[in-house]
Amino acid sequence: MAKSMRPGTYVGHGAGFGESYEVEVVVDSDSIRSIRLLRRVPEADHPSPLLEAATATLSDEIVAEQSLAVDVVSGASISSRGLLEAVADAVQQAGADSEDFARPVARAVQEEAPRPRLGSPRLPERWDLACDVVVVGSGFAALAAAHHAAELGARTMIIEKMPMIGGNSLINGGQYASYTSSIAGELQRKLHLEPDTADRHIHDTLVGGDNLGNPRLVRNFVYGSPFYLDILLENGLKVLQSLTRPGGHYGYRTYTTEHGVGADIVQIQKGLCEKAGVEFLVDTKMTQIYREEAGEGRVVGIRVATKEGTKTIAAAKALVLATGGFSANVAMRSRQVPFLTADLPTTNQPGATGEGISMAEEIGANTTQMDQIQLYPFADPNTGVLDRYAVIPFSGPSSGVVYVDVNGHRYVNEGERRDVCAKAAQNSAGFPTFCIFNQTIVDKGGFIAPDQLADGIRLERIFKADSLGALADLINRRAYKDQAVHVPGGTLAQTIAIHNGYVRERTDPDFRKVIDEQMMTMDDGPYYAIPQWPSVHHTMGGLTITEKTEVLDIWENVIPGLLAAGEVTGGVHGTNRLGSNAVADCCVHGYIAGQLAATSTIPDFVPK
Ligand code: ADP
Repeated sequence: MAKSMRPGTYVGHGAGFGESYEVEVVVDSDSIRSIRLLRRVPEADHPSPLLEAATATLSDEIVAEQSLAVDVVSGASISSRGLLEAVADAVQQAGADSEDFARPVARAVQEEAPRPRLGSPRLPERWDLACDVVVVGSGFAALAAAHHAAELGARTMIIEKMPMIGGNSLINGGQYASYTSSIAGELQRKLHLEPDTADRHIHDTLVGGDNLGNPRLVRNFVYGSPFYLDILLENGLKVLQSLTRPGGHYGYRTYTTEHGVGADIVQIQKGLCEKAGVEFLVDTKMTQIYREEAGEGRVVGIRVATKEGTKTIAAAKALVLATGGFSANVAMRSRQVPFLTADLPTTNQPGATGEGISMAEEIGANTTQMDQIQLYPFADPNTGVLDRYAVIPFSGPSSGVVYVDVNGHRYVNEGERRDVCAKAAQNSAGFPTFCIFNQTIVDKGGFIAPDQLADGIRLERIFKADSLGALADLINRRAYKDQAVHVPGGTLAQTIAIHNGYVRERTDPDFRKVIDEQMMTMDDGPYYAIPQWPSVHHTMGGLTITEKTEVLDIWENVIPGLLAAGEVTGGVHGTNRLGSNAVADCCVHGYIAGQLAATSTIPDFVPK
């Protein structure tokens, strides 16, 4: 409908918050030409920049759109309504209809300028090598990713800077947490254990990390864990006839591999990779990630250093980072936690230096929870190494092993999380501490392999004696990092006797340990002791990933073509990783990354 107004200048009135406005409006026969705020009533003795800004915005929009149905100015909504009312009043005086200027207009949202993307200023003009999926690292996560990508038809390559395959995973304790498996029923019947559930495993994991883990990533690995364990078992993995409940777990869900080392798993995974045709390049160190600056900003390949010089490798489908953590990088870890100086040893292999994280940051990746760094409480006090004997104190709490300090006293609830046990050891009566157990625990616990025990005794990593007094003598005969100890045999015997009483009564008034019927008393010899001390073990923080293992940039956008799995990622375990969850986390997220890289799909083991 054509508007018909009397051309001229009109003064309209409108009400604001505790004030009203007089607005001068100039119109011609069919349009509003200009708007000006004449005055506020009552007159204010100070200007109102907000009111002036609102008037300017509204008058521009009304004149441009020839509509009074424009959005109010945010932060000045009451004044805006008053101004609009005043303009409406003026145009009505000019003879306009209420319908004339009623066309709704939404204010256009200001487009943010795109953020600069951290791409590579120069991409290789030609590539030395090329394949579909490049996996960097060769631990549990890398091997799971590479195997699955290759079996799904992707040409896949593993890049490892060390001379051998396996990373930290080789020297890991071979403990795998899984709430069920193809052999769980049989083991539970044999060991008189209640079946475990996924919900309990998820709950223990989240609580064990002070609820700072990402529940989606936790659900991934808990539900994927039995699935991947069955793949390993079907392909020849042998496990001990035991299910344990290490610190922080309240369900019997931890499997121990035949020799109590991660190498048992790595060997199976490596065989699967070989069968699927994965190509291995060792002594080959990733030194740069290439990401396009243009287009979708895709990661397109890497640069590596080899004995023959540098090379470039194109990744047509995806780059999977599985480069592990940074426990062996003193500068990087002490930047996060100043207390983690060079004085503290690490359980990690020397390649755990974290540059995969820095290289991903260089092309825009985000990190999370980088200062969450775990000490393993039971490493060899002389070397800081987590050898196959150092796994025994970890697996033993549900069977009834006892930790004592240099005075022969208990110093912690043995069923506690690693962070609690490590802190308690550091605050105990001295250096080091000891894990005590006896033959009954060896025989019935099922988590100690016969050759593991025999080798430990032969190497004097494990002490064996017929009585607790004689055991204390053996302990005291050795020095630990050149420091002598004097564990009183009588006190040690008394501590074990008191603990036996607690186990019988199923209550621990000293440390409130959860004692169930699996726990054994130590009534007879032979008795055993293993010295133990905290050592830097696991970096829970790392690259931020989605539940599909896609790496996110600092603006929460997925970086196309870049996936990550295993210890290089952050946010799965929160403040504290429960022992035996790492292998499952690495394997499952590696498997997801391999599938996503090869087929752009994800496995369906997590219920919706
Ligand atoms: P996870 O347990 O997460 O699978 P591991 O620590 O077992 O991780 O393995 C990570 C592997 O990645 C190690 O073998 C390590 O040597 C390797 N690695 C780390 N950084 C690089 C790099 N820049 N280039 C190639 N390999 C790397």
